Amino acid sequence: MKLTIVEYPDKRLRLKSKNVTNFDAKLHKLLDAMNPIMINTNGIGLAAIQVNHAVKALVLNIPDEEGEQPPENLLEIINPIVTKRAGETVYQEGCLSVPKFYEDIKRFETLTLNYQDRNGNTKTLEADGLLSIAIQHEMDHLEGILFIDKLSYGRRKKFEKEYKRMLKEKKSS
Ligand SMILES: [Zn+2]
Repeated sequence: MKLTIVEYPDKRLRLKSKNVTNFDAKLHKLLDAMNPIMINTNGIGLAAIQVNHAVKALVLNIPDEEGEQPPENLLEIINPIVTKRAGETVYQEGCLSVPKFYEDIKRFETLTLNYQDRNGNTKTLEADGLLSIAIQHEMDHLEGILFIDKLSYGRRKKFEKEYKRMLKEKKSS
């Protein structure tokens, strides 16, 4: 399966993702293709909608202390539901669908998540730190929300201007 990352301002990023109901070979193929594209683009998380599949499927691999992302740290999260959230934290986020831009975004510090694995088994996960932040970022994608939507009016305007300039330069180069 050949996947490419959908980039802002592509409207497909605004689609609401649907629940996964079939935990079949098609889903497994999608997940197997999402993982390398995330790793090869230096991402820590990727939602299926970012590769043009509007289903509630995420892959995450949070770098360890050495900055490595070994395959055994891969998390596949299907149909996630947050059941608890607490605290507040700010982190400079980026997004594979909004290349080269990083902004401070406020998130919950910790959360508890119910989800399913690739075979449909129900799981629970407690997350804090970067994992908690990344899960919230990726789950926003499932609702068609991007991290830049959370910027203040002034910062968003500045972002749009700089992003437009970057797209122009990309085209002409
Ligand atoms: Zn993102």
